[in-house]
Amino acid sequence: MTRNSDCVFCKIVSVEIPASVVYEDESLICFLDHNPLSPGHLLIVTREHYVKLTELPSDVSSKVGSVLPLAGRALLEVTGAKGFNVLCNEGAVAGQLVQHVHFHLIPRFEGDKLGYRWVAGSYEEGKAAQLTDAFQQAFTASS
Ligand code: AMP
Ligand code: ZN
Repeated sequence: MTRNSDCVFCKIVSVEIPASVVYEDESLICFLDHNPLSPGHLLIVTREHYVKLTELPSDVSSKVGSVLPLAGRALLEVTGAKGFNVLCNEGAVAGQLVQHVHFHLIPRFEGDKLGYRWVAGSYEEGKAAQLTDAFQQAFTASS
């Protein structure tokens, strides 16, 4: 099992520090974020120490895909939230503070004043076609 002795989430996985664990299996552990954006804010964390989503082997990412809806249903039932946001901060520029891949599930309630305002742009002539081509090649190369 890959582990980083300086990593707070590895310490939770190895029970060196406590956490409010709500679910675990052979690949993942799910616990309450200790500084919740709303009550019931969950983190889904890999047992092994991977820094980023883009490093995950397919068996672990498949497991994430199957546990997300399970955790989401539990969150709605337990918190009474009307919905939730799933968030993965990939890299410091995206706000990743803990360098061990994790997925936030953030319960949402009417009028909770959470959320953010994205400033959406638009594509100049030809840019969308150029990006589409580049993405298609990148997907082909990495699949
Ligand atoms: P980020 O890396 O910005 O996506 O977020 C890291 C999240 O981990 C934050 O929301 C923290 O509140 C949470 N966190 C950090 N340490 C702990 C801990 N010991 N137990 C529970 N949650 C934690
Ligand atoms: Zn770790």
